[in-house]
Amino acid sequence: MSTRPRLAVWKFASCDGCQLSLLECEDELLALAQAVEIARFAEATSTVLPGPYDVSLVEGSITTEHDARRILEVRAQSRVLVAIGACATAGGIQALRNFGDVNAFAAAVYPSPQFLATLATATPISAHVPVDLELRGCPVDKEQLLELIAALLAGRRPAVAGYSVCIECKRRANVCIAVQGTPCLGPATHAGCGAICPAFRRGCYGCFGPMETPNMPALTAQWQQAGMTPGAIRQALRMFTAAAPEFAAESERHDD
Ligand code: SF4
Ligand code: SF4
Ligand code: SF4
Repeated sequence: MSTRPRLAVWKFASCDGCQLSLLECEDELLALAQAVEIARFAEATSTVLPGPYDVSLVEGSITTEHDARRILEVRAQSRVLVAIGACATAGGIQALRNFGDVNAFAAAVYPSPQFLATLATATPISAHVPVDLELRGCPVDKEQLLELIAALLAGRRPAVAGYSVCIECKRRANVCIAVQGTPCLGPATHAGCGAICPAFRRGCYGCFGPMETPNMPALTAQWQQAGMTPGAIRQALRMFTAAAPEFAAESERHDD
């Protein structure tokens, strides 16, 4: 039997994009497979080794009673549990339901909504079980993912900065589009993407979720000064990480 740490990858309500970020580590994948025993990873292999597991990477949010029970089993089998991605850390795009009536959505979309079994909310993994670490992003950044796994193997804290996309944007020498009037969530958003959107002259829409200490009222006051309506501000905050507490609370402050 292998003495390498056992890695398990789990999926809840999600698009699989964060798992694909792991597969995207093409150059490092062989080294990773030699350093850990991949015990379960449905995107890569149909082989499933039994627990317990040293590290569980959990993708997706909790949206059904069944998954609310399943995450308890995952936690019980995992020494270290890491939530990866916007779905697992903030509820994801599916958490937009938290601001409305899920039954009304279901009735509008499905001819027979009575066959649906879903919770009224989509919630992050940490709302259900203790989570040891969280990695932001939609999807997560593969460099941050590799750093996290390397740190866990070495028994140290991952070096994942808590600062904002603005810092990355400045390092990239982008001209700030916010000062030119384009709304940008970069000042409040967690770093990790390398400021991709501003580099292409597009405002950040916060897919990495809130940074450690975001000043949301200051940011939205600036947006208001630039002429954004409360409805537009609300929509800008209700994207992939709408249910992250900082973004959710600020969007509710701009409810009509
Ligand atoms: S965080 Fe984004 S990429 Fe990852 S599973 Fe959720 S929707 Fe997909
Ligand atoms: S463009 Fe956005 S992310 Fe870049 S410095 Fe300006 S506000 Fe920050
Ligand atoms: S939306 Fe923001 S955090 Fe997401 S990739 Fe674009 S710049 Fe990065």
